[in-house]
Amino acid sequence: MAVFSINDILLASDGLASNNTAPVPCIKPKVSESISSSVLYLPIADALVKAIPIRECQEKVIDLLEVKEPRLKPRSAVDTSYCPAYEGYSRVRLGVYRRLVSMLRYLPKDIGIAYSEGFRPFSKQKEYFDAIFKDFLHKTKDGKEAYGEAAKLVSPFIDNKPTHCTGAAIDMALFRIKDDSNLEVLDMGLYDSSKDNDNETFTTSITEIQKENRLLLLKSATKAGLVNYGYEWWHYSYGDRAWAYAKGEKYAIYDLVVDKSDPILMITKESYLAEASLHTDTK
Ligand SMILES: [Zn+2]
Repeated sequence: MAVFSINDILLASDGLASNNTAPVPCIKPKVSESISSSVLYLPIADALVKAIPIRECQEKVIDLLEVKEPRLKPRSAVDTSYCPAYEGYSRVRLGVYRRLVSMLRYLPKDIGIAYSEGFRPFSKQKEYFDAIFKDFLHKTKDGKEAYGEAAKLVSPFIDNKPTHCTGAAIDMALFRIKDDSNLEVLDMGLYDSSKDNDNETFTTSITEIQKENRLLLLKSATKAGLVNYGYEWWHYSYGDRAWAYAKGEKYAIYDLVVDKSDPILMITKESYLAEASLHTDTK
């Protein structure tokens, strides 16, 4: 039985920001204040989010694969069609792990968490951004526009602290334990950040079951202290700038967990766009 109903959600007619200077957020429904205050409705690399200072708290990164909790599993263990995207995907900050464990208390006993990507190396972040940027560039032929659109789907690696590279973020879905050897990922709609259809947490163009399952994930995660990225139903974080912005915290507590001498850190937006225009022009 669902813990709550999708009927709790009513689309707000005033969903868009009333301040004309504010960026246009994604769909913002009316949910209870406790949930609404735990969803980021701005692009993840918006200037308002990036302006939040970070005070690294030096908390360690742990590997979820070493955790013996039957209701916390890598997606690949539940969904045979899914392969882990890269090595080390199961690492998160200790504070994130604690909130995932806390989440389980708010979920029905036969429901668990299927996580797919936690910590992400900077090189992998660049790879993801490059792929989506190139897609948009192909469509628009405008580097700046393509960069802005790509930045809504993947946090840029330039002049930014991508949340997955800090150990603050986790991408996840829910699964049902039918019996010990029979686990099933709940139907929550498409899980693919390269497609911009129906990824928004509160999109209305998905089935009622998908809406209910997304809401179950959202309600349990936000109760545990995580925040959701409103453009992606599967993306949650704690301790990063998105969390600080949504929760009204003065600063984030997790900085990048990367090699500071990585040459990727030296790439500027100008050099990246110049390189891109070179390739578009010579097509
Ligand atoms: Zn994510």
